[in-house]
Amino acid sequence: MLHDYFGREFRYLRLSVTDVCNFSCDYCLPDGYQGDSGRKSGGFLRLDEIRNIAAAFAEAGTRKIRITGGEPSVRSDLPEIIAAVKQTPGIEKVVITTNGYKLPERIESWVEAGLDGLNLSIDSLDPSIFQAITGHHRLQELLDGLDRASALGLDSIKVNVVMMRTYNGNQIDQFLAWVKHKPLTLRFIELMQTGDNEEFYQRNHVSGESIKQRLLGEGWKQALRSKDAGPAQEFDHPDYQGRIGLIMPYSKDFCASCNRLRISATGKLHLCLFSEKGIDLRQLLQREDQKDELITYMQTQLNDKEVSHYLQDGNTGGTSHLAMLGG
Ligand code: SAM
Ligand code: SF4
Repeated sequence: MLHDYFGREFRYLRLSVTDVCNFSCDYCLPDGYQGDSGRKSGGFLRLDEIRNIAAAFAEAGTRKIRITGGEPSVRSDLPEIIAAVKQTPGIEKVVITTNGYKLPERIESWVEAGLDGLNLSIDSLDPSIFQAITGHHRLQELLDGLDRASALGLDSIKVNVVMMRTYNGNQIDQFLAWVKHKPLTLRFIELMQTGDNEEFYQRNHVSGESIKQRLLGEGWKQALRSKDAGPAQEFDHPDYQGRIGLIMPYSKDFCASCNRLRISATGKLHLCLFSEKGIDLRQLLQREDQKDELITYMQTQLNDKEVSHYLQDGNTGGTSHLAMLGG
């Protein structure tokens, strides 16, 4: 099992397959995608490289891989990527984080390819606020896509909501009412500062602690966390079909339960979402027989993983925005 100096084990990989995105979320890519589609770094990971990454991680004990981006669905070979990861011996779950663009017409091919879980970003249930945040009038399409995903029997459906004071800060009631009859997990995520969004962050960051206190006051019970659970805190309520998750990266000890590694769309290993830079793996992804060398190299690099990020000090490392790494 890949592990670090502090005893944390890494069983979960977040694999970015592109940093291109077709949305322009105000907290992430407010001016839309401005990159070079990975050209300077040899293009985005190819299917054979993705296969080799999945095989090495599986061999090292990883059981779950999340496909992310940018927007992963801008890759026309996404169904092949899902199938390649899912068919890797040892990988039990392949899940995706998406903005839901054209979800109703796409979800079926992803499920057929072997997708086990969907995380969909919906920062507001109000169509005009959704449009103000993302630049797209597509809320209804996402909601239809969610229904389609449920009808297809996906194991795990989660909705990500980034909390922002001036956009959805007053919509907690609406979200809670929505999950009363929806069997999905709604995850409130604290807005994180990145290199590009300081002013937006200062205006919009709200702590998840007030939501936590509200939930506990209204009869929600915090679920016990298994030893290998990630950093989200989860809550259940007997009157609600849905669950609530809280992701509070600014809370004390958030990094103590870190169980994930990240690979960028150009094949760089990131030991933390906010590390200074990625570690180039590309040369070790070219052949199946490089698997052991790749694992040994990653384990050596992991000895340098820091105990925590330094976000609370405003130190965002080399991360300009989360589209470059997939969140
Ligand atoms: N495009 C896909 C999407 O939006 O779901 C996948 C990539 S996106 C970078 C992954 C997740 O990170 C999304 O849920 C998004 O809302 C979240 N995210 C992006 N920037 C963030 C920030 N500054 N703070 C907190 N969450 C952020
Ligand atoms: Fe694109 Fe996702 Fe960033 Fe929004 S959060 S701009 S959908 S990568």
